[in-house]
Amino acid sequence: MDVISFEKEFINLPSPVQSLEHPLFEKYGVEVLIKRDDLLHPIVSGNKWRKLKEYLLIAQKQGNKGIISFGGAYSNHLYALSYVCNSLNLSFDAIIRGNELNSTSNVYLEQMNSWGANLHFVNREDYREKIAPIGVITTNKLIIPEGGFSEIGVDSMIGLANELENITFDHLFTAVGTGTTIIGLGRFLNQKTIHGILSLKNKSEIQDHLNQTLRNSSNVIIWDQFIQKKYGKKNTELEEFCIDFKSHFGFEIEPIYTGLMIQSVFQLIEDKYFETGTKILLLHSGGIK
Ligand SMILES: *Cc1c(COP(=O)(O)O)cnc(C)c1O
Repeated sequence: MDVISFEKEFINLPSPVQSLEHPLFEKYGVEVLIKRDDLLHPIVSGNKWRKLKEYLLIAQKQGNKGIISFGGAYSNHLYALSYVCNSLNLSFDAIIRGNELNSTSNVYLEQMNSWGANLHFVNREDYREKIAPIGVITTNKLIIPEGGFSEIGVDSMIGLANELENITFDHLFTAVGTGTTIIGLGRFLNQKTIHGILSLKNKSEIQDHLNQTLRNSSNVIIWDQFIQKKYGKKNTELEEFCIDFKSHFGFEIEPIYTGLMIQSVFQLIEDKYFETGTKILLLHSGGIK
């Protein structure tokens, strides 16, 4: 199956935009909308399809037989790629951080394995080099950088930017991992203010990524003050926020990315960061698996 047929048949484009109602928004006089990219696909959801599309089109055009990419044991990026490669009949080599792991270490790795992904577990020093380990054939395969960050990943965000073009809003908020999503939105929606909420202590890496790929980043605001101290471990307050969110709004957010981003926006509203009448657009970048 080719990339465009896969998208037409299986990816629910365009994703819907929904208005959110909450006593807090009423109290501070702000309007809040959410772009439901989590609904694009049950597995290849959110920004993962948005970022991968351009790479997959390139692989198809070049006649590549497979894909190689990098990530951690819980990577949404590798999970999505495993599924897509299986559907598109491409081989997939996933280079995974942590040589203490194996294909049964968690349910995501098990699932990736069952989709036919070749899982390669490498130690942390070797992982940092971001090269395919010895024994992995690289000929005629496309290497996608960790999290999909490169000019190609950034360019791939044009699809989402086009969908957002027709929506009126003052501030757009997105979660940040590698920064590919926010940089792409910053590039294609350069008349809008776009805020990124960092999940990881990687502000200098994001700054490097911004400098490499965005000539004018004056419309992009990066927030690092909401980073959780206990990344990866349970954070009760944030977990509770996500549970309350689901019971109030009727759909799920996960704590690492979208949950933290939305909790931060709630905090900013309470801190009176926004003037009355402000229209805030949240990007639900998926991540529920
Ligand atoms: C991967 C992921 C991100 C990070 O996106 P970047 O483009 O790498 O910044 C954000 N949200 C969710 C749900 C993700 O899975």
